[in-house]
Amino acid sequence: MNAGIHRPTIIQVDAQAIRQNIQQERLRMQSGTDLFAVIKANGYGHGLLHVARYALEAGATGFCVAILDEALALREAGFTQPILILGIVAPQYAPLLADQHISVAVGSQQWLEKADEFLQDGQKVRVHLALDTGMGRIGLQEPAELERVEAFLIQHKLQFEFEGIFTHFATADELDQTYFQTQVNRFKAFMAVLKQKPRYVHVANSATSLWHKACGGNMIRFGIALYGMNPSGRVLSAPYPLSPALTLESALVFVKELKKGRSVGYGATYTAENDEWIGTVPIGYADGYPRRLQGFHVLVDGNYCEIVGRICMDQLMIRLPQSYPVGTKVVLVGKSGQNAITMVDVAEAAQTISYEIACGFSSRIPRNYL
Ligand code: PLP
Repeated sequence: MNAGIHRPTIIQVDAQAIRQNIQQERLRMQSGTDLFAVIKANGYGHGLLHVARYALEAGATGFCVAILDEALALREAGFTQPILILGIVAPQYAPLLADQHISVAVGSQQWLEKADEFLQDGQKVRVHLALDTGMGRIGLQEPAELERVEAFLIQHKLQFEFEGIFTHFATADELDQTYFQTQVNRFKAFMAVLKQKPRYVHVANSATSLWHKACGGNMIRFGIALYGMNPSGRVLSAPYPLSPALTLESALVFVKELKKGRSVGYGATYTAENDEWIGTVPIGYADGYPRRLQGFHVLVDGNYCEIVGRICMDQLMIRLPQSYPVGTKVVLVGKSGQNAITMVDVAEAAQTISYEIACGFSSRIPRNYL
């Protein structure tokens, strides 16, 4: 997608907010604990390389990404810190992982056996064993399987470095802790059969780190909270104020008085009940602004303005309290006057989570770094 550098729609990313969120979390961490910044999906839409840099400035010691290409982009940009790929990488890329010193999540002995076939003498892959304690996504299912895999790793010391072991919680952001506790117990059962702990033991995403301090481990995988978003939406309050890093702004490109009885947008779903001022904003669902947000609002000059009519691919229309000149700023996420629209507000209105909104903003919206 071509970046729209000649239109007024822009995402501003506040570096200081990112640094502050990480620093606040580090103050709460036990000494000796590493913080790996989770910067997959283009840093949750904020920009992979920029966020990587801010995270290091704030004391992160490594990165987590989802796919090999994200890890390679970091290496290509010169980042030499540990990088862990959280998703499954095809075993044929084991030599590339070894050469680039990229660590990888492994969820089966089969993967190791396959990867071993591709490795040349002297190539060694850093492995983080994934334990499926209840997420049901990737990982070893039972402690007995872990015993076998650990034995395999011991036998294949030249090919694999057993660098880490981890699990992922499915409900760390919820009030009810029953399922969370089930996962903790399963994790303990896994750890009990381990002969030797690897360098990194990690169980915590943002929610686990924010609300389940007692979980242990010596590294956290800190994602959504570093961008200043509460992983639980509004369910649990964070132990310190999270500073939102992203604002989304645009400007009015067309303003008109719509006469009573005239309609707006595809399907003519909105009809003016009075003579009304309607503004057009150059952002739409191709930018990752969900079509479902019809009826939600943006901010103009501190006023909430309803999005009227269906959101188009590239434009949306809003009802203004009065005439405003073309070029007037429109805030879609952020503050204007006394009012604000948060990512959680947007996510709730779109019936999703802030993660999806943030990483859904397309590359057509330029990112500006403050
Ligand atoms: N760890 C794993 C395995 C993940 O998949 C993710 C993100 O989805 C994270 C950590 C980071 O989670 P969060 O953004 O909620 O901190």
